[in-house]
Amino acid sequence: MISPPAVLARRFVAGETAETAIAAGRRLHARGIKATFDLLGEDVGDREAARRSAEANERLLRLIPPEVERNISIKLTMMGLDISEDFCLELTARILDTARQVGGFVRIDMEGSRHTQRTIDAFHKLRRASDNVGIVLQAYLHRTEDDVKEAVARGDRVRICKGAYKEPPEIAWTKMDDIRASFRRCAHLLLDRGPYPAIATHDEGLVGDVIAYTREKGIGKERFEFQMLYGLRPRRWDELVAAGHQVRIYVPYGTHWFPYFYRRLRERKENVFFVVKSLVFD
Ligand SMILES: Cc1cc2nc3c(=O)[nH]c(=O)nc-3n(C[C@H](O)[C@H](O)[C@H](O)COP(=O)(O)OP(=O)(O)OC[C@H]3O[C@@H](n4cnc5c(N)ncnc54)[C@H](O)[C@@H]3O)c2cc1C
Repeated sequence: MISPPAVLARRFVAGETAETAIAAGRRLHARGIKATFDLLGEDVGDREAARRSAEANERLLRLIPPEVERNISIKLTMMGLDISEDFCLELTARILDTARQVGGFVRIDMEGSRHTQRTIDAFHKLRRASDNVGIVLQAYLHRTEDDVKEAVARGDRVRICKGAYKEPPEIAWTKMDDIRASFRRCAHLLLDRGPYPAIATHDEGLVGDVIAYTREKGIGKERFEFQMLYGLRPRRWDELVAAGHQVRIYVPYGTHWFPYFYRRLRERKENVFFVVKSLVFD
């Protein structure tokens, strides 16, 4: 039987198992593209489920072949952030230890604004003991430019993205032009002084801005990377690689695919079209 992700979310989700995700990572590697693997899931409410998620991430880190790069993305609510910060820190520190043993890197994804400060606080605590960990900041939040300045001062590795959750106008820009302006300001700060920032967007205006800015400032292509999501703009990945840029694709996998899939549909109506088209024609 074909499982639901296989038919519905297959454009955006690599598969249900770590092995299928790694196979996608190998195909990307053959094209000169890096990957960060994401075991899908969030908002875990019991300790046993959080422990299982952490173990699955440790297993993943050990399974990824070195040539593909052991790079994963995790969400702290999946590691029990809403249960207890100490518990979450304990599980996440274990993942970071495993990552260190295998020469890997762990990116902490950013979730909705209810979790922003707690995620940053937890990251700072983890960062004291590990330098193989980075954070994500969301350009749509009013606070983010200050967070970026602080991250740059601390030497933290940042992925900048627009932000994927529905946030109120009291704390977030809601007009796309304002979000783009904030993204540009944050990206420039990171490119000027941040260690190996990740520029995560499919927005051609922003990609073009980063290319022009780095060229003008003499910032080498090896000093930052573009990141895009599995299934979105695959031809552009190859063009960027051909132009000498570093490109990393976020490769999600697992059975808890619905919230991720729903965010992709909500943020762009063309994504709904892609799904319908793949149901009818593939
Ligand atoms: C690697 C990665 C990691 C992320 N991690 C997080 C995270 O931790 N937390 C979080 O909140 N969000 C995360 N996001 C999601 C992010 O916040 C945005 O919700 C998402 O990337 C959509 O914004 P966008 O800038 O890519 O483009 P959009 O705002 O969706 O699109 C803007 C424009 O880009 C162009 N475009 C977009 N998609 C396509 C396409 N498929 N083909 C052609 N043109 C296209 C079009 O011109 C479009 O009008 C991540 C995104 C990426 C790429």
